[in-house]
Amino acid sequence: MKTDVQEFIAIGLGPFNLSLACLAEPIADLDGIFLERNTEFSWHPGMLIDNATLQNPFLADLVSLADPTSRFSFLNYCKAEGKIYSYYFRENFYLKRAEYNAYCRWAAAQLSNVRFSCDVQEVVHDLENGCYVVTGVQGPQREPFVLRCRKLVLGVGSRPVFPQCCEPAEHRFMHAADYLANKAQLQQKRSITIVGSGQSAAEVFHDLLKEADAHDYSLTWITRSPRFFQMETTKLTLEMFSPDYIDYFFHLDEQKKERIVRTQDSLYKGVNASLINQIYDLLDDKRNEGRLRTHLITNCELQGCRYDAAGDGYDIEFRQLDCETRYAHRSEGVVFATGYRENIPPFIDGIRHRLRWDEKGRYRLARNYAADFDGNEIFVQNAGQHTHGMTNQDLGMSCYRNSYILRELTGVEHYKIERRIALQDFAIPATADFVRL
Ligand SMILES: Cc1cc2nc3c(=O)[nH]c(=O)nc-3n(C[C@H](O)[C@H](O)[C@H](O)COP(=O)(O)OP(=O)(O)OC[C@H]3O[C@@H](n4cnc5c(N)ncnc54)[C@H](O)[C@@H]3O)c2cc1C
Repeated sequence: MKTDVQEFIAIGLGPFNLSLACLAEPIADLDGIFLERNTEFSWHPGMLIDNATLQNPFLADLVSLADPTSRFSFLNYCKAEGKIYSYYFRENFYLKRAEYNAYCRWAAAQLSNVRFSCDVQEVVHDLENGCYVVTGVQGPQREPFVLRCRKLVLGVGSRPVFPQCCEPAEHRFMHAADYLANKAQLQQKRSITIVGSGQSAAEVFHDLLKEADAHDYSLTWITRSPRFFQMETTKLTLEMFSPDYIDYFFHLDEQKKERIVRTQDSLYKGVNASLINQIYDLLDDKRNEGRLRTHLITNCELQGCRYDAAGDGYDIEFRQLDCETRYAHRSEGVVFATGYRENIPPFIDGIRHRLRWDEKGRYRLARNYAADFDGNEIFVQNAGQHTHGMTNQDLGMSCYRNSYILRELTGVEHYKIERRIALQDFAIPATADFVRL
């Protein structure tokens, strides 16, 4: 590898940094590289369940919302792969997740600025030379590498979260993130419990329910939520995924932001309506056929989960929140679909002192997504729900954020950055019609 100083190094190649890589590729003289520890692009492989789809229409691909003429668009992928007419006839805007993964791999394969099998282990700042030194191991032999850059873009994704009562535990509980790798083993069990009620929980429950008779297990689905609620997708609500809302949210004080995020579960944590309906129909079919062996229980907070090695099963304790009553439940298998949290990677330790942190140990990001004190050196993808709001993890806002980051990296607005797209006002309009009292 070269040892000269790159303008930037981006660490991690999920959809967000891959989008940045596609948008950076055509910019002449922009010297940046993207490092990914996996051997190839792989988007949440544990959840590439048959027929699961993206929650966004295909226009939320890697590039189109920044540059619809980009050769890395989903439509260009369809054309190149001979699929464009079938896509046209299908009239389905929601890509299967497996198709999105294949599209991302196609895009990654054409990029000259990405390097797979590069596991970043340490980043330090070289004060004398005014650059960052990125070190790690690469390739199957895990040989060391050293690279230098002026700026960094962190795109290391999020990490699975378990309920507090599971931590610390010697036993390795199963998270939905690892579902497919463990599915066959899970289906050997006689009883399986799914905890959580977001999109992932619903997908795992539906997938297991479809095959329950063939494998002869019972299913229990437990959630703390008061109902199996739907992800809101009406259009005036979707407008909250906009630069307008980010600007509004960003300037609120930190405590208000926390409070608002807590009220926004249905914007990003619920289940899409069509999946809820499919689950309902399947449950009803099974009941009519006398084959229903399920329990769906809301309002229940997990208070304990212990693996009993002797009996190879789990002793679960939960509390019914309305009745304030505790229950015990035994299950041979448990899947935790209990979400993800921002990932602060260990390699950050060497530059921790250059970063701004909040009281909860999260990055305190500036409006331009920079986390460093100077506000123009270390940019962070997908770790700013508390600063920029729930658009943080949304694929539909990836092009917007990356256009912004590219402008900050280069000083030039290579892709038009929309300032206002919403038909509504999130802040009170500064016009004579509205007088502040
Ligand atoms: C199952 C699932 C489905 C989702 N579906 C949608 C959806 O339909 N629509 C939507 O808007 N959002 C969706 N999301 C939310 C979000 O958009 C995705 O999580 C998205 O993958 C986030 O992309 P990312 O680039 O931040 O991280 P990731 O996709 O997690 O990628 C991070 C990458 O960084 C690499 N990495 C980490 N550490 C290092 C290191 N030290 N060195 C080198 N590489 C490293 C990892 O190997 C990984 O490849 C979904 C989330 C999940 C879990």
